[in-house]
Amino acid sequence: MAQRVAVNEPAGPKRTARVRVAVRLRPYMDKQDEKGEGLCVRGLGPQTLEIVNWRNATETLQYQFDVFHGEQSTQQEVFLSSVKSIIPHILNGQNASVFAYGPTGAGKTHTMLGSQEQPGVIPRAVREVFQLVRTQVKDQDEWEFSVGMSYLEIYNEKVLDLLSPSSQDLPIREDKDKNIIIPGLTHTPLSSFSDFHAHFVPASLNRTTASTKLNQRSSRSHAILLIKVVKCQCAPPHRQQTGKLYLVDLAGSEDNRRTGNQGIRLKESGAINLSLFTLSKVVDCLNTGTSGRVPYRDSKLTRLLQDSLGGSAHSVMITNIAPEYKYYFDTFTALNFAAKSKQIINRPFVRETVMAPTNAAGKRSREEQDAGGSGE
Ligand code: ADP
Ligand code: MG
Repeated sequence: MAQRVAVNEPAGPKRTARVRVAVRLRPYMDKQDEKGEGLCVRGLGPQTLEIVNWRNATETLQYQFDVFHGEQSTQQEVFLSSVKSIIPHILNGQNASVFAYGPTGAGKTHTMLGSQEQPGVIPRAVREVFQLVRTQVKDQDEWEFSVGMSYLEIYNEKVLDLLSPSSQDLPIREDKDKNIIIPGLTHTPLSSFSDFHAHFVPASLNRTTASTKLNQRSSRSHAILLIKVVKCQCAPPHRQQTGKLYLVDLAGSEDNRRTGNQGIRLKESGAINLSLFTLSKVVDCLNTGTSGRVPYRDSKLTRLLQDSLGGSAHSVMITNIAPEYKYYFDTFTALNFAAKSKQIINRPFVRETVMAPTNAAGKRSREEQDAGGSGE
């Protein structure tokens, strides 16, 4: 019989919720690339992938995550396994956030927004919210629900309202109950999914994009959709609960030193790096359970997400990566951010998928690895 092991929770302040981390590898976009250089990253199982170790060609690096979505994974599968289960919490006054991280071109917008034929997390999540509200309203008459949206972007550490594009940088505040609020941000009530669609599509076109060497229309801002569900008791004492769901398409995580940006672009890059760098510190603090201050206040993005990332909130980060060699260092960096654990396997990266479990080399901790120099 399996032995039970008692695990003592560490003493001290209440542990905050982990951020679940999923990784999605997109397929090759060009068959020619696939034939040319071959793979540098591939999936090994539902939680594991391996990449070439650039420091030592006789080794591969294996990473483990909460979920790994391979290049065959569909939009439906990503939604079902990484997002769907957090939606019901929004109808119970809890907060949640889903964000797509990764270099430009790796599939963040495909994952979050998708296309008409392959809708992504955003349309699926919003449909699910309306579906759940309808079911709840049908099954009981104690509570009334109202759904609404806000849509904003953080560009160059400025908070801009995408539903009111002429507005200026908006402040981020905290109310007495520690809810994060943005005074002046447009909140649009929604009656249905098609109502959402009608407001969201034109607002998406307001997003700031600029061309860089890496991508013609690289998104250099964080696009943040907020879906708010307010639940009101019909009879006295008319209790009220608010649940917030943030759906975030982050700016590209690529190393901006390689994009050849100058001047204003370089300033943007610095600001983007501050927000993403702070996000990585926040996620790291939450996931390693490091005691002490979580640095939410160090960037606009993390300050905004403070009540919906960690704490009692439900959070999922989908790290998008690309298979091509030209993305290798950005993939490596993104995986080091996303990984729960990493180990070095003492054998060269090969195309075959069969693996002997006995030849695993000594396991090194992520801290030791990272202390060994970033290498970029
Ligand atoms: P990002 O937003 O991270 O810059 P995109 O979502 O724009 O990247 O993806 C880059 C290109 O790859 C787009 O043409 C997109 O349609 C395509 N793409 C990304 N992920 C997938 C996928 N899983 N399956 C098919 N095509 C994808
Ligand atoms: Mg994009």
